Amino acid sequence: MIDTHTHIDFKEFDDDREEIIKRFFDGGGEKLINVGCTLESSKRSYKLAKNNENIFASAGIHPHDADTVDENVLKMIEEIAMHYKTIAIGEIGLDFFKSTTSREIQVQAFRAQLELAQNHNMPIIIHCRDAYNDLINILEEYKTSNWKGVIHCYTASWEIAEEFLNLGFFIGFTGIVTYYKDKTEPNEEPEIYRTIKNMPLDKILIETDCPYLSPIPERGKRNEPLFVKHVAEKIARIKKTSFEEIENQTNKNAIKLFNIGL
Ligand SMILES: [Zn+2]
Ligand SMILES: [Zn+2]
Repeated sequence: MIDTHTHIDFKEFDDDREEIIKRFFDGGGEKLINVGCTLESSKRSYKLAKNNENIFASAGIHPHDADTVDENVLKMIEEIAMHYKTIAIGEIGLDFFKSTTSREIQVQAFRAQLELAQNHNMPIIIHCRDAYNDLINILEEYKTSNWKGVIHCYTASWEIAEEFLNLGFFIGFTGIVTYYKDKTEPNEEPEIYRTIKNMPLDKILIETDCPYLSPIPERGKRNEPLFVKHVAEKIARIKKTSFEEIENQTNKNAIKLFNIGL
């Protein structure tokens, strides 16, 4: 199992970070990607990655912190991105849900970091909430139909997912997919089920986004990388296939996108 989106550098893990990492690798975890969302967390991510063979880092500024992005910050993100264990730019994107940062500033920060990723030919980890149209329009402007990246924590429709697939993206799913009860009638199924059923297996990534979004049966607790197995189990049930197939295929996908093979 590869957890493609964790925040184990957060203070929620200050008391037992090493234990949590050990639990993941002892429990069948192979690699994890710790995602930066501020300059400081990007630095912490890289430090974690440098000290653990199977942990990789990304560097980037989250849309919530877009107002911190200036030339100096971009330069420091670029510096972190150049280290060998930093394998992506992110999480970057747009979040129009409850953000205190203006849309204009978010767009500026997003564009600057897209360009950074393109200059260094690095994959991107995209965070998008309530802003899919704006985000797709920006990506389309860049005139590459071959983006390397993932739309993380995806919860929207199959139609929007298809647009991202056409742009070259992978789609990442979190514990949110476990929050729905399995229904027998297809017309009662949540939208995310339809998205997952339609998704080509070779474009799916799994992630926890820990410490947030604990999957059932751990919901309500702090999330941790090992719980990514519940996401894989649920996707296997929705796609009517085995856990092993989802595990193998999502591993391959993550290794391919982020170039984190041996
Ligand atoms: Zn996010
Ligand atoms: Zn995140």
